Formats: sequence, structure tokens, C-alpha cells
Amino acid sequence: MRIYETHAHLDFDNYKNDRDKVLASCFKAGVQKIINIGIDAESTAYSIKLSEKYPQIMATGGYHPSTVQKYDEDTLRKLLNHKNIKAVGEIGLDYYRLYNPIDLQKQVFESQIKLALEFNLPIVVHDRDAHDDCFDILTKHKPRKVVFHCFSGDVKFAEKVLNQNWYISVTGVITYKNSNLDDVIRIIPKDKLLIETDSPYLPPIPHRGERNSPEYLIYVIQKIADILRLAPKIVAEQTFLNAENFFEGV
Ligand SMILES: [Zn+2]
Repeated sequence: MRIYETHAHLDFDNYKNDRDKVLASCFKAGVQKIINIGIDAESTAYSIKLSEKYPQIMATGGYHPSTVQKYDEDTLRKLLNHKNIKAVGEIGLDYYRLYNPIDLQKQVFESQIKLALEFNLPIVVHDRDAHDDCFDILTKHKPRKVVFHCFSGDVKFAEKVLNQNWYISVTGVITYKNSNLDDVIRIIPKDKLLIETDSPYLPPIPHRGERNSPEYLIYVIQKIADILRLAPKIVAEQTFLNAENFFEGV
């Protein structure tokens, strides 16, 4: 089984003492490709550094809603030129934690969408309690390739996203008892589903409370396989091909 991790933060300090070991364990478990996600200029630069060290890792570049007060378009522009940058992200709106004023979040989100179009890169969206505003700002610019990372909407919102031909990505949250994503997963066309861990956050059951790792994607795969009544191997392979298509244009 080969596995494609589409959203991890392995540059974070959570891995500073054993990053190489964690990655070796992931590769051994079949995680063949990893997208390491930037949340500001520093973490984007570190993601690029990881991609230069490990051929299995690719990077994204962008300012997360929690860092938009530091937004510097020229710096991001330079980072996006690197050949290992496969998307702009994670970018979006977070009305749950409201790290930054909504106006500033919207302004920086929009500026980064324009950069994605200019650089012809897909967009990884962070949407927390901001479904309608994320959707409206995105559709205004008509980007072709968008994924809603750690999707948290209902079936109705999923339909809106899928009608744009965009992608939906799910995390270990789908293994939690209070998850209501089963019905969402059932309506996603098989070529539009991506999987991720969002490591170090959101560890799937039975690892809740621990630091997450891309190797735990197996639990996300198993849960999807249960919901769709498919073999885990089929789910892993289909989501692998989808991720290649989304990030690498394969
Ligand atoms: Zn993330």
C-alpha cells in the first residue's frame, strides 16, 4: 500500500528532537509522499529545506490566518518560485479562534489567491467557521484547483465545493465519535477526496492525546474504507492518485 500525506507540519518544534526518526518510520509504513505545509515565511522556508533533504517531501507556501499580521507579499513571491513548492497554502479564514481581525484575514487571503493564480499553483484552504466567506472570496477569483483542508462543513456545503470541481480533504477527525463527516465522505466523487493528518495536530483514534504523525494515516484510510465499504488498499491508492493529480498535475 502506498500512502500520500497531503497536509503535515513536520517543520514544527514538536519534531525537533526526532524528525529524522519519525520520517524514517513514515517511509517504512508506506507513506511515499508528504506535502509539508507552510504557515508563514519561516515555516515555508523550512518546508522547502525539508523538501531539499528528502525527495519524498514537497512544500507549500503561504500565511495561515494566525500569521497574516506578518504578511509580506514580496517574501512570499520569492519563496513561491522554488521548484518544490506545489501549492499556495495554507491560507484562508478562521472565525473560530479569530487570531486576527476579519478584515485583515480577508485581505491577505485574497492577495494570496491572486498569487496562486499568477504562479499557476493549487490552493490549500484553511476554513474554520468561515464557510460562506471562504467560498465567496474564492469563487470571485475562479481558481481551478482548490482543496478544503480538514473539511468541517455539512453535506450542503460539501456539495457547493464539489460543484466547483474542488477537492475535499479529511483528517483523523473522521475517526472521532462525534464526527459527522460520514455522509460527506459518501457524496465525494472518488477522484476528489484527499487524506491528511495535519500532524502534529488531530491524532486519529487510537492515538488521541499523542503527537500525530503521517504514519497514522492508516487509521484515516481504514475509517474511509469502512464508510465506503472498500478495501483499505483501494482507498490508499485512489487518494494517492488524487493527490498526485492535485499537487503534481499528474
Ligand atoms: Zn495545517
